[in-house]
Amino acid sequence: MKKIFVNGYGTIGSRITSFLKDDPEVTVIGVGKYSPDDKVELANSRGLNVYVPERKLDDFSDYKIAGSVESALDNCDLVIDAAPGGYGYKNKKNLYEPKNIKAIYQGGESTIGSESVSDLLFNSRVNYDKALGKNHVMQGSCNVTGMGRILEPLRNKFGDKLIRFDVTLIRRWADIEQIDEELSDTIEMTEKPHHGDDVKMYFGKDAPLFVRAIKVPTKQMHLHIMDIRFKDLAPKSSEIHEIFTNESGVATLWTAKGTKDVRDYAKNMGFNFTDTNMVHIHANMTTSIGDTVQMMYSDDQTGIVIPENHMLMQAMLFEKSYEDALNHTESIFHMNEKKQKLQERFAKKD
Ligand code: NAD
Repeated sequence: MKKIFVNGYGTIGSRITSFLKDDPEVTVIGVGKYSPDDKVELANSRGLNVYVPERKLDDFSDYKIAGSVESALDNCDLVIDAAPGGYGYKNKKNLYEPKNIKAIYQGGESTIGSESVSDLLFNSRVNYDKALGKNHVMQGSCNVTGMGRILEPLRNKFGDKLIRFDVTLIRRWADIEQIDEELSDTIEMTEKPHHGDDVKMYFGKDAPLFVRAIKVPTKQMHLHIMDIRFKDLAPKSSEIHEIFTNESGVATLWTAKGTKDVRDYAKNMGFNFTDTNMVHIHANMTTSIGDTVQMMYSDDQTGIVIPENHMLMQAMLFEKSYEDALNHTESIFHMNEKKQKLQERFAKKD
């Protein structure tokens, strides 16, 4: 049985750990905690061993701790790093590389520049095979993952008939669990957002993709507004929706008034962490005008990257085929069932 360590037990780390515990092919040997707070007890109550950095052992004297992060890594096949952006690179240099351990990094890291964690930015729908057997790979961020789920099926279907993608990312301010985070009453503009460059890491550096981003005071998902220009007359909206009928992790909804409707439904249905783990095309907003299709889809910021981490782990550790990995991820995340439920709840009205 392969042994996994999840380093960082915040929004992403706690979700990843929870799903990995349902995977009979791996064992979670523990989680890395960096601050002595309630989450140590929460992790213990969930049956997880908690490890802390050697230098901080004294800070955790009031808590039940299994040992140091450094010692846990001596007994591990792969680390899923879920540290705050930038710390993954430091962990790579200080811990994973010296101990020669495979590691997955999250979207707050970089694949460009002096603090790059990998030369591969993963998106299972686009470049799964490139991760087979690799030692260090970065999972794209939530927006970057969501764009891949839409762009790649479009490229597969329309190829060189596509001439340009313009995307405006409307980003959420904070995550649902961040109860201490105050939402500022402003619309913040993001200079030089990383998302376009990140997508080009897997979609091609010359892809005609132009991305702008703003941040708005909501915790209820991201929304992407995408204009797709075609060489000639654009396809009908129905042809666009059809492409996504069998796409894993893409639901097509007609009657959600806003992103909160989708999140509330996930909550009422008891989806884990109130996540849908997917993007939701708001099909009532798709229009085809001349050479352009305009569409909008929302992106479950916290949930979307979790099944992706699971796919990536299978590529790096087990070198499974894409189909085998997708089937195994499906057996744990039940994405198709969630998609079907969402589509039924928000079905087109006659
Ligand atoms: P978070 O702040 O909720 O959790 C990070 C955790 O890591 C905290 O518990 C912190 O104490 C711990 N930590 C501190 N120093 C550490 C270190 N050196 N090594 C390991 N852990 C350390 O952050 P998050 O939202 O879970 O984000 C983690 C990563 O996932 C970031 O790269 C982020 O960009 C990415 N990501 C976040 C989201 C999201 O919606 N929150 C979505 C996709 C990707």
